[in-house]
Amino acid sequence: MTAKSFASTEDTAEKKVSFDQIGSGLYAYTAEGDPNSGIIVGDDGVMVIDAQATPAMADDVIARVAKVTDKPIKYVLLTHYHAVRTHGASAYKGAEILASDTTRGLIAERGKQDMDSEIGRFPRLFRTVESIPGLTWPTVTFPDQISVWLGRREVRIMHVGRGHTAGDVIAVVPDAGVVFSGDLVEYKSACYCGDAHFTDWPATLDNLAELQAVALVPGRGAALTTPEMVAEGIALTSDFISTLYGSVSESVAKGRSLKDAFDFVRLVMDPKFKTFGLYEHCLPFNVVRAYDEARGIEWPVIWTAERDREMWAALQG
Ligand SMILES: [Zn+2]
Repeated sequence: MTAKSFASTEDTAEKKVSFDQIGSGLYAYTAEGDPNSGIIVGDDGVMVIDAQATPAMADDVIARVAKVTDKPIKYVLLTHYHAVRTHGASAYKGAEILASDTTRGLIAERGKQDMDSEIGRFPRLFRTVESIPGLTWPTVTFPDQISVWLGRREVRIMHVGRGHTAGDVIAVVPDAGVVFSGDLVEYKSACYCGDAHFTDWPATLDNLAELQAVALVPGRGAALTTPEMVAEGIALTSDFISTLYGSVSESVAKGRSLKDAFDFVRLVMDPKFKTFGLYEHCLPFNVVRAYDEARGIEWPVIWTAERDREMWAALQG
């Protein structure tokens, strides 16, 4: 592997998928730190939370859903715009694709660049990449909140603040006290912060914590199946974000270069978070975005395949 290769282009080992029931008609599709999906079975249909990266990968979710219910998948919720979450959507034939207005705006603004850069960064996450027909466009969008009724079962979809991206939403199932958080919460997996709003993210997590979920499916990592695990997952995520942004802000205040800021982050972050899944992969993108935000760049700069390569060469050089 050359110094300029991305950390993950040679990370090709397949992850073991788990499909666990976390409540009545509620399931977590998790993959040892690769992107999760969630499943909500209602009276007359099913909602899937996050579509997976490719239609071929979504087919595995669909097959597992078919083993627990014969009700149709009527809705796919995109918690945010990232390619690994959205481009399996075409496998869900006939389903409405839900996303926030902001997420739709991000797809229009930077969806194509994100797809190209994510595929270049991490090929394993895009199994059978040629099955992607193009960008995924939501069919139903909403400002901050919408309730979708699966018969008598309400799914309350809420934007509780900016964080992982500007447009993230969570799905809450009030009758069960269960939350599907998307990438706003990760469990013992690194947060990807290349499109993050670090200043807002902690308050967003506070809003999420106030829901007092009894179980939560994070964006990556194992399902959190007790209130204690939910609290732990939120606390770990908050610590990850605050430690990262705190150390980069300090470097910016002291006038350090990006490379020096990166080295300083390692001193602070490695002891606590180095064992987290995708830590090495995410860190350079995380530091670059934090460095930008700390210098007053409010709207994240678009990642392109070219910017990815330049950044990686600068920090690994
Ligand atoms: Zn994401």
